[in-house]
Amino acid sequence: MKWALSTTDKRDWHALEFSERDPSWRKSSRRGLVCLGCGSPAFFRAPSRKKTPAFGARHKDGCALLKETWGVFRYLQ
Ligand SMILES: [Zn+2]
Repeated sequence: MKWALSTTDKRDWHALEFSERDPSWRKSSRRGLVCLGCGSPAFFRAPSRKKTPAFGARHKDGCALLKETWGVFRYLQ
């Protein structure tokens, strides 16, 4: 997913913006990341050659983000 909420600074972050912060800041902030839809713990996926930065989470049943129509992609979120 592209967005996650940081409970550390009480704001939501776009993955791209998050990836541009310095590594030490990311290290301390990523522990407080949660899904915007269900509040489950989220993690940051660093960009690689093939992938853009993103957040991931183990969503709870009924999470608003899982109600999107993109079915199979839910596991990539
Ligand atoms: Zn969720």
